[in-house]
Order: sequence, then structure tokens, then C-alpha cells
Amino acid sequence: MNEQDQQAPYRDALSTTGSSEEIDAFLTWCGIALGWEVVPDERDVPWLLIPAALQEEVDGIEKISAVPATAVVAEASADPTAVAVQTPSRPTWIEVLRKVVATDQAAHAAPASQPTSVHELTPRLFEAYTVDGGHVMLGGCSLEDHPLLRATGLVGIDQDRQMLQLVHHFTTVDGQPVEPQLLDSLHVDQLTPLRRPPRLPPPELPSWVETGRRQLAQATDDLSAEPLLITVVWCKYLRCKLTFEIGGVQADLPFSSWAQWLMGGEVKPPPFVCPHTGRESFHVVLDDDGVITVAEAIAECQHTGRRVVETSLATCDWTGQRVLRSLLAPCPVTGQLVLADHRITCATCGQQVSPKASSKGHCQACRSLHAVRGNDPRLARVLQRYPKLTQWSTWRISETNTAWILRASSVFRRLLVVVDRQSLDALHLAESTLLSRDWSPVPADRWDQHFTP
Ligand SMILES: [Zn+2]
Repeated sequence: MNEQDQQAPYRDALSTTGSSEEIDAFLTWCGIALGWEVVPDERDVPWLLIPAALQEEVDGIEKISAVPATAVVAEASADPTAVAVQTPSRPTWIEVLRKVVATDQAAHAAPASQPTSVHELTPRLFEAYTVDGGHVMLGGCSLEDHPLLRATGLVGIDQDRQMLQLVHHFTTVDGQPVEPQLLDSLHVDQLTPLRRPPRLPPPELPSWVETGRRQLAQATDDLSAEPLLITVVWCKYLRCKLTFEIGGVQADLPFSSWAQWLMGGEVKPPPFVCPHTGRESFHVVLDDDGVITVAEAIAECQHTGRRVVETSLATCDWTGQRVLRSLLAPCPVTGQLVLADHRITCATCGQQVSPKASSKGHCQACRSLHAVRGNDPRLARVLQRYPKLTQWSTWRISETNTAWILRASSVFRRLLVVVDRQSLDALHLAESTLLSRDWSPVPADRWDQHFTP
């Protein structure tokens, strides 16, 4: 098949199909995208110089009209004989472009509406937040260029390929399909040619061109649909770390998105997430403990007035106040948190208990001692640890969440032993006469007298 045979169908088809304007617009775009040198002729009509290496491939044609459609009309009306010599018609353009693809060359372009610098995006990022007493800044940022492939071809829309239509087919560089919604959101319908690809030179380019060539034929069911041009469409993807700084304290928030989504408002920067409460908000504050959090997570300690993240507070079981956890301690009898200031020291066992667990100075545990025999496993463990206590024969016992309270009696006196339930370490020792209701704590330095044989 000679060149004329190949070109004829296009010439016929393009003269009849309604999409010829679209095709001409595309060819004009190709002229810009390929970046060839532009030279005006004597009538000031722009021509593109075909690179020397490609001239042989296209039968020595040296230049081609930068504006395919209008050039033909202009040449034809101005000088009919010139048309035959140098008419840079659409078929010639198509032939040249096919050679461009065949030699593994591609055009590079980017969505016309996409931002080109981080600077354009920072207002969108920062305006989302209110930072009390501080500011938000970029703690790290990159605007990555991710390539998509656009294979453009002429596809027959009738059986004889007399009617041709321009189609663009997008894939990833490894030939995977791209969601139409994603393509829409990236605005790849309007592309600006790039003189240089953002990554130079992409060594994978020949394989990308091959991928585009193969995918177009598969996608269109037109096995003769050879691409006119493979365009690498570079789409900007933002990866950044927003850093909030208040009073010398910093907290980071990672964020990533297609740059166009951020510009177009399809996505907004994420809310700051308080690491302690999980609460999310765009209102970032510093609490009185120096923790960066969100305003909604702040609560006030009703005892000290400190403003802290709400998880730093708990409720006192006695006063009902929300106070700093550090001011609270669990009552060994009730297990509930109680403000340390409000706890009562049991006159019997010496444990600090909630007022709720105390009556007339004695804790609930000490008021509910019950008799046990020596084979009670708790008593047995204590007697094994402190053998001298075996000289006592009558025992009563009670327990709290943390301690065992043991009371021994003899004919003349009584002994109270409080031990840690886990370690069996002695916590308190007191003695009393059999008739007295009061207990006298035994100083720690005298405990050996009762414990060591
Ligand atoms: Zn007690």
C-alpha cells in the first residue's frame, strides 16, 4: 500500500465527518505539544520544522503547517498551484504523527487548570484552621508529578472506516484503566503542553508509548486504530505535613490529595485529631498541660480551674466534681475515685477510704470482719509469711480491693494486721486491749517483734 492509498480514506472521511474541526484542533495542539521550531513563511503563516531525524521517515518533508485546517484553505485560495507542492494537509499531519509514535516519541502535557506550585495551595490548606495563640505551617511538602497516558487515535465509526472520530484513551503507565470520575476531577480534557517532562528523561518512555499504542487498539475494538499521539499527562499530587505550633509546642497532621481536588474544593484539609480524646476539629488550641488539642476537647478541672483535655479529668465519687485524675485516688473499699483531700483515714486499719465507705471513723471493711479458721487460704498465706503470728489462735478477716485486714484476739489483747493482697507486705499494724475500742498503731520499727520469731 503506497502513501496515497493510506492517506485517501482520511482525506475523504475528514471532509465528510462532523468531527473534522475537533481533529484539526487536536493536530494544532500536537504542533505545540511536540515543541518543534516555528517558522513563519512570507505570508506570515506559521510552519513547524520537522526534526531532521524524522524527515527521512516522512519522505523528506521538512516542514508542516502549524495550523492544519486553515493552512490548506489559505494556500488553496492564494495560489492553487502551491497546494500541490506543499499542502500540509491533515493526511500529511497524520502520517507525521504516526511516525512520531513509531519512533517511541511522546508529547508531555499537564491539566491546564492544575496548580504548579505549593505556594498556590497553601492558602487552601491554612485557611481551613483556626489556631488559638499560634499558627499552622508546612512541616514538609512535596508536589509529585504522576504520569497518566493519553493515547489519541482516529477510530472508524462506520464499517468501512470512512467516518473517523477522534478518541482519547487514558490509562496508567502500566496499562491499567483509570476511573472516568478521576479523569473528570483531574480535568484532563484541557491539557497544556509541557516543553519538558517534569522528570528528565523518563527511561520508561518507550514502554509507555507501547502501552498506549496497545491499549488504544484494545479499547476501541478498531484493530487498525493506531495512535496519532501518545501524551504523557503529568498530574500533580500533594503530600504534606501540616505543623501546628502554639507556644513552642508542635503537632503534625499529614495530608495528601490530588492538587486539583484541593484547588477545586473537592477535598478539604482534614480536621486536626486530638491524640488523647480522638475529637476532630478545625479549631486547634493548647491546653494548660502543654498538649495541642482541639477546642472541643478542652474541659476545666473544677478543683484547680486548669483547662486540659477532657480525658485528663475524672469524676470524684464523693464530690461529683470533674477534676484532674492526678488529684484522685481509688478508695480500696468502694473502688471509686475520690479526691485525695477528701479521703478519710480509717481509725482501725489506717487505709485511706472514701467518706462513702466510712462510718464514725471506721471503714466498711473493718466493720465487717468475720471469723475464720486457720485453714482459710488467705489466713494460711499470711501465717506462712509471718510464722510468729501463729501464736494467735482466734482470727477474723475482711478484705478491700487492695488489702486483707486480719484481727487476732487473745485473752488480754488484740492485734490488727493489714497486708497487701498481692505481695503480702505489711501495710499497717495496730494493737489494742481486749476491752478497748481504740487501736494504737505500732511504729514500723517495732513490727519485727510481732512478725519475726
Ligand atoms: Zn478500716
